[in-house]
Amino acid sequence: MTDQPVRYLVYSHDHADHSTGGALFAETATFVSHVNAVAKIEALNDANTPVPTIAFDDFLSLELGGTTLELYHVGPNHSDNSVVMLQPDDRVLFAVDFIPVNGVLFQTLPDFDPEGMIASLTWIEENLDFVTLIPGHPPVPGTKATVGEVRGYVVALMAAVRAAQDEGLADNSPEMVESVRAALEPDYGDWNNFAEWLPMNIEGLLRIWSEESATPTP
Ligand SMILES: [Zn+2]
Repeated sequence: MTDQPVRYLVYSHDHADHSTGGALFAETATFVSHVNAVAKIEALNDANTPVPTIAFDDFLSLELGGTTLELYHVGPNHSDNSVVMLQPDDRVLFAVDFIPVNGVLFQTLPDFDPEGMIASLTWIEENLDFVTLIPGHPPVPGTKATVGEVRGYVVALMAAVRAAQDEGLADNSPEMVESVRAALEPDYGDWNNFAEWLPMNIEGLLRIWSEESATPTP
């Protein structure tokens, strides 16, 4: 915390555990988010959660007290409005929820876009210069290498589920879960929530794929 007045409050994304209660800073702060978060925060109709008055699309730079903070939207991933914040002077990236440190993806992947996730992580690896990664939940911190590790997990998860389907294993069956677990365990078995959330990650991925195939292509 700081004893200085808070001038900006940046919504990292609209999920309730990271977006509500900002009214505490409303006397001094301007509220900032990605454009896709505005309607979602507005829909909460919550007096404790101010609607952003600065909304950006791809990039916004904020300057305060000689420090620059660069805000990027790098596409759909953990949500469709995730903002990553780079402090270039200290080479720190703040990426809430969407780049977990040593952890599998969140439960059944609500709001998740697998291809967008891979593209987002690749873009960050190629374009942003940082040493320290601060995620939205413990353990903290990570490093730039965390980005590639999470991308590796998403790619491996998708490949293992496809392979299980190709073997003829039924979606979400114990046999499919065991096949995916066996494929991922050597590299990711020690990650947080691996045993508990891997079956949920599989379920979420299968749901997303079935929703995608149900959407008519124009
Ligand atoms: Zn979230």
